[in-house]
Amino acid sequence: MSESKGIAYSQGRYMPVDEATIPLLDPAFTKSDVVFDVVSAWDGAFFKLEDHLARFRRSCEYIRVKPPCSEDEMRRIMAECAVRSGFDNCCVYFLCTRGRYAGGAATGDPRESENEFIAYAVPYYWIVPNDRPNAGAHLWVAETIRRAPNEAINQRVKNFNRMDLTRAHFEALDNGADAPVLLSLDGYITEGPGFNVWILKDGKVLTPGENLLEGITRQSVFELCADAGLQAEAADLTKADLQDADEVFVSSTGGGVMAVTLINDKPIGNGAPGITTSKLSDNYWKKRSEGWDSTPFSDILEPEIPQAAGAD
Ligand code: PLP
Repeated sequence: MSESKGIAYSQGRYMPVDEATIPLLDPAFTKSDVVFDVVSAWDGAFFKLEDHLARFRRSCEYIRVKPPCSEDEMRRIMAECAVRSGFDNCCVYFLCTRGRYAGGAATGDPRESENEFIAYAVPYYWIVPNDRPNAGAHLWVAETIRRAPNEAINQRVKNFNRMDLTRAHFEALDNGADAPVLLSLDGYITEGPGFNVWILKDGKVLTPGENLLEGITRQSVFELCADAGLQAEAADLTKADLQDADEVFVSSTGGGVMAVTLINDKPIGNGAPGITTSKLSDNYWKKRSEGWDSTPFSDILEPEIPQAAGAD
């Protein structure tokens, strides 16, 4: 049997992820009219599942879709996808699509669509390469494209409107970097495809606060900084702030806390992953292994049945 690439749930069925499709006429495809979220699972337990579900709920409300199942059903479907995939560690995507307009048409009144819930599990991945432990990632602050402003596409809503991110990705790769970081229209650092950006400068940990997705891992980093007694806050940052930082790192569901050692052509600090970054990364994984905000699949799939009170 070939190795599992993952299991998807769509239209009430589980299937190999390769076989799951979106109808050509679903505005999720033709208009990117869909919201999603991604939760990771390690050793049979989701990490911060409730935070991901809460963000998904807010995303759904913003674009006015309603998943056709309860959150309990979503939890169960997501755990099923993970368990059926057979991965020890995975990322589970979950989406609510607009669904086709009334009568299966390509156009019409979006309020009359049949919204759909889709989920799928894929092997756990690192959003920037993690096979060079002493090198860290090479980021590229894009010069030819800016992040779409919140006024056009609310970046707090996890969306697939990614033409800006993808174009910047090409620019980064063409310049030999691993991934791009995009500036806002005002010239401040926002985020990259799949991650938030952080710097350490003079003992303070800083991250952009505007025009970006507020990552669940970003929230985790604030918690890790508080644990470590580090002052951490949101701030407007420029490309020069990144290049002059003592340390730079990114945070993502796909990889946790990951060091950055080169921004465009400028090495950060001494060019090696920073000590604070490494500590935050180690603590992230240590806390996860100790059960930090974890929800075991078994709690979802085999909930304990409360003992009936005995008659006396
Ligand atoms: N920013 C963008 C655009 C993302 O797509 C993601 C995650 O995929 C993030 C930031 C990081 O968010 P999280 O920490 O919830 O994975």
